[in-house]
Amino acid sequence: MKYTEIMIRYGELSTKGKNRKLFISQLAHIIKKSLHEFEEVKIQSDRDRMHLILNGADAQEVMKRLTPIFGIQSFSPVIRIEKNEDIIRQTAIDMVKDIWQEGQTFKVQSRRSDKKFVWDSNDINREVGEAIFEGIPGITVKMVQPDIRVEVEVREEAAYLSCLTIYGAAGLPVGSSGKGMLMLSGGIDSPVAGYLALKRGMEIEAVHFYSPPYTSEKALQKAKDLTVKLTPYVGGIQFITVPFTEIQEEIKRSVPSSYWMTITRRFMLRLTDLIREQRHGLAIVNGESLGQVASQTMHSMLAINEVTTTPIIRPVITMDKSEIIEIAEKIDTFELAIQPFEDCCTIFAPPEPKTKPKLDKVLHYEERVDVEALIKRAMAGIKIEEIKSSDVFLNETTDEMDELF
Ligand code: ATP
Ligand code: MG
Repeated sequence: MKYTEIMIRYGELSTKGKNRKLFISQLAHIIKKSLHEFEEVKIQSDRDRMHLILNGADAQEVMKRLTPIFGIQSFSPVIRIEKNEDIIRQTAIDMVKDIWQEGQTFKVQSRRSDKKFVWDSNDINREVGEAIFEGIPGITVKMVQPDIRVEVEVREEAAYLSCLTIYGAAGLPVGSSGKGMLMLSGGIDSPVAGYLALKRGMEIEAVHFYSPPYTSEKALQKAKDLTVKLTPYVGGIQFITVPFTEIQEEIKRSVPSSYWMTITRRFMLRLTDLIREQRHGLAIVNGESLGQVASQTMHSMLAINEVTTTPIIRPVITMDKSEIIEIAEKIDTFELAIQPFEDCCTIFAPPEPKTKPKLDKVLHYEERVDVEALIKRAMAGIKIEEIKSSDVFLNETTDEMDELF
C-alpha cells in the first residue's frame, strides 16, 4: 500500500492546557531530529493531531523511527485520495485486503468536516462498509472491538483513509520537562533510570565518573555504549566524563574505610551538581533503588544528599531488581550492563561500608581532604562528547583485537 502520510495522535500532552503548544512544538522538533535523513517528509501539526506528509518516503521506515518517541499515543499510516465515491470505496477495499487475515472482523468509522460532500458520515460508514464486505469474501462486520477499524475522514481538501493503529511510546516529549544530569555508571540501574526520565519528558546528559588506571578503557566504552542505547528516544546525548582517580585515592588515604563510600558519593554528587549548573540543568537523575546496597539506605541517602538542594530524581527507587531488569531487557541495556568491567565504585569498595553513616562523622572526616581543590581539578579534567545512535564503542575495539590475534 502506498501511504501518503502518517497521522500521529498525541499522548498525555493534550491535557496540558496552556503548555500544549509548547509540548506540540517540542514533539515536532524531536520527530524532525529523528527523521533527519528523510528530508522530503514535512510535518504539519494542529491542536489534536500531527501529520507527517511523506512525499514519497517509505512509510514503514518512518514508522520505525516513531515507535520510541515519547509523547506519541498512537499513529496510523494514511492514504490521501481524491474526494470521489468510487475512489474512496476502492481504496478502502485495497487497504483492508492488504492487512486482513482469515476470520478478522472490521468496522468503518468516519468523520466529515466537508459538509458539502455528497455522503454524510452515516452514508460513508454504510457505503464503505458495504464495499469492503462485498470486496473481501469472508470478512465480517463487528461494531464493538473489531480487529480492523477503517477510519475515513472527508475534509475540504481531500479524503483520508487508514486502517492500522500502532501504539506509540506514550510519555511526554523529551525536552518538554527541562534538562537533567543522569549519573550513568556501567550498571543495570542507571540506564533504566535515564530511560524513565526521558519518558517523562526530561532531556538528559550523561555524567560518568572514571578512575584510570584502576578502571579500564572498556568500562568507559561500556558506559558510552549504554548511552547509545538511549539515543533512539532523543537523537544525540552529551556524554560527560569526569576524572575521579585523584579523589578516590585521596579519600582512601585520608578517611577510615567505613566512610569511603559515603564521602565518595558526596564528591560525585557535588561534581554532578556543578556540571548541572554550568550546563543549565534543573535536576540530577540516578539509578538508586532503596536498600539495594549500602549507599542506597535512607540513612546513606540523607548523608550523601546533604551536599545539595538540587532535586535528585530516582526513577527506580521503589523498584525491585527484577522489575528494573525487566525494563533493562526491554530497552536492550541488560546484556551490555552485565558485562564484567570494573567501575570506579567496585574498585574502591570498602570491606564494610556504613549503612547508617552519621553526618557529623562525615563532616569530620571530610575535613581531612581538600574538597575544594580536588573538585576544581576534577572539573578541569572533564570531557564532553556527543554520543549518536550510530556510535559503537566496545564491540569496535573487540573486533580490532580479534583481528590482531
Ligand atoms: P547501577 O546499576 O546504575 O550501577 P548500582 O546498583 O550498581 O547502580 P551503585 O553502584 O551504588 O548502584 O550506584 C548508584 C547510582 O550512583 C547509580 O545508579 C548511578 O546513578 C550513580 N553512579 C554510580 N557509579 C557511577 C559512576 N561511575 N559514574 C556515574 N554515576 C555513577
Ligand atoms: Mg554500579
